[in-house]
Amino acid sequence: MGKPLVAVFSGAGMSTDSGIPDYRGPQGLWRRDPDAEKLVTYEYYMADPEIRRRSWRMRAEVWAAGARPNAAHLAVAGLERGGTPVRVITQNVDGLQQLAGMPARKVFELHGTARSVVCTACRARSQTSEALARVAAGEPDPPCLACGGILKTATVMFGEPLDPEVLSRAVAVAKGCQVFIAVGTTLQVQPAASLAGMAAAAGARLIIVNAEETPYDALAAEVIREPIGTALPALLTRITAGGT
Ligand code: ZN
Repeated sequence: MGKPLVAVFSGAGMSTDSGIPDYRGPQGLWRRDPDAEKLVTYEYYMADPEIRRRSWRMRAEVWAAGARPNAAHLAVAGLERGGTPVRVITQNVDGLQQLAGMPARKVFELHGTARSVVCTACRARSQTSEALARVAAGEPDPPCLACGGILKTATVMFGEPLDPEVLSRAVAVAKGCQVFIAVGTTLQVQPAASLAGMAAAAGARLIIVNAEETPYDALAAEVIREPIGTALPALLTRITAGGT
């Protein structure tokens, strides 16, 4: 019997041990503070230079905090390194799964990444570290160096569609995997959450690791409420041992 394809679908809870709060979820910081939500809402961001200046300051603060991968990220990367086929579908934009050693081509970032910057006019991409260096050097809303257009992080802001290519690859993983582990997500933000249902419908063993209930718990073969930092490594060890 070949090793099962394991899909890990991660939400904000995956990164809280790394010191990154839940910004975007239904109970996330941005949803609870409409003023803060404007900083990551495309329409406001494009229309208002002051929103952009505040948004860059917020990115600079998050960046300066220097989040590092935690035990859960390392366990997922370790599973892949050990020879089990693994794909990660994530709602997080922190890039920590790749920093933990997971090959970037096996990570599908549904909400993009805060580690890159994209020009809204010419689509040129560059490093967030470079844009933040310009902010620190006195350009509070740094324009694109190629065309002068408005720069933003390569994240999917509210009001922007998901990248259809990333989404379709995530759907293929959900439908093709044997084990689908939803970690640290309340599975309430669509269309991402529907991947859990697709995986279960296609015959995957659905495992949910989350502190609170999710709408997909009834479909799950297993629901784990313990803290992710210990529960996920233990679960992946069990899968490696062949006793899912
Ligand atoms: Zn440009």
